[in-house]
Amino acid sequence: MGDTVPLLRRPFEVSDIVVAGGGPAGAATACLLARAGRRVVVVEREVEPVHRICGEFLAGAGLDRLAELGIDMARLGARPITQMRLVRGDRVAAASLPFPALSLSRRTLDAALLECAEQAGAKILRGHAIRSIGNGAVLVEKHGELQASTLVLATGKHDVRGARRAAGNPPDLIGFKTHLRLAPRQAEALEGVVELIMFRDGYAGLQMVEGGHANLCLLIDRGRLVRDGGTWDGLLASLLDECAHLRRRMAGAEGWPKPLTIARVPYGYIHSGADRSMFRLGDQMAVIPSFTGGGMTIALHSAKLAAQCILEGGDPSAYSLAIHRAVRPPMRLAGLLYLAGRTDWLQAAILRMSGWWPGGMAGLAALTRVG
Ligand SMILES: Cc1cc2nc3c(=O)[nH]c(=O)nc-3n(C[C@H](O)[C@H](O)[C@H](O)COP(=O)(O)OP(=O)(O)OC[C@H]3O[C@@H](n4cnc5c(N)ncnc54)[C@H](O)[C@@H]3O)c2cc1C
Repeated sequence: MGDTVPLLRRPFEVSDIVVAGGGPAGAATACLLARAGRRVVVVEREVEPVHRICGEFLAGAGLDRLAELGIDMARLGARPITQMRLVRGDRVAAASLPFPALSLSRRTLDAALLECAEQAGAKILRGHAIRSIGNGAVLVEKHGELQASTLVLATGKHDVRGARRAAGNPPDLIGFKTHLRLAPRQAEALEGVVELIMFRDGYAGLQMVEGGHANLCLLIDRGRLVRDGGTWDGLLASLLDECAHLRRRMAGAEGWPKPLTIARVPYGYIHSGADRSMFRLGDQMAVIPSFTGGGMTIALHSAKLAAQCILEGGDPSAYSLAIHRAVRPPMRLAGLLYLAGRTDWLQAAILRMSGWWPGGMAGLAALTRVG
């Protein structure tokens, strides 16, 4: 955001609760609080629902939280996922998922959650970016200043001036996401399955979402991207060369001309210390490695804990304690698995072990889940 954007001069607007960011964490919190009769304003910088970089895999407690909010996933077109496949080169190990799981595009899900908050009575300021936060006030582009008795920070990976996370020096990973139309036989082979495909220096998730599309979402070291020519086309050609399974899946596929990208995701980050002035939710609180497909569950679970705490009159430190307790064990295991998956021979060992003992792979997947 540039400093030159003009701000409207208008008197403070006072609201009980200001929620910064209308993604899963912010929208779910707003919905719960507005249903309990609180005056809530959500500030969301996007004018309308957009695609997000995400594997779009939802499971376990994340689905419970959505059901509690009354989100009808089947009506939105979500597809059941019952199996996971671990892939490397041409080798595949499969296991049944030990928890219920669904896939749904973020554009559809995020829109449904914000609509849920609006119907509950929250006011949604769309198309307004927050420029800074401080002393209980939120400075909103093209709007002015909002005063809040309670502030909920749910801007995901994007930091806001006055409330930045100390995320250190995250690994230089680049994320890509594209929706594809696979050839009919390949789409059929992927039905009901999430595929986790391991590469040198990265991995991809592949699964069907609503509307007959497949979501290909991958993370790769910047060094690998540079070696492959620094472009998506170069990287994809190199990944197809490395992985016969992906080559088969992609044969005859049509995708977006340009995938979405993201850089420097701070995997393993947990916000330490208690904010006295605000509730941090979702990726602002903890960023779990994305192969677990657990980020949205953390977002929705943190929304539930924060809303409970606010309604009981608790302060952010009580919430902070509860969310830390919930996320620390799965984050620790996910971090170890993530490191193992970055080593070539350990990747091979994980795949071999998963082939012999599919229950072990399913068990590890369950242990990386929150809630
Ligand atoms: C490659 C990759 C794959 C992933 N795959 C999965 C998966 O399969 N399953 C899963 O559960 N999780 C996955 N995740 C993680 C998941 O996407 C996040 O954990 C989740 O989106 C966090 O939700 P949130 O509400 O905290 O933030 P977000 O979803 O990022 O929402 C933040 C909202 O705040 C708004 N915003 C930001 N800045 C401002 C501002 N200044 N002013 C106003 N509004 C603002 C944004 O527009 C957005 O709507 C993946 C992540 C990556 C990087």
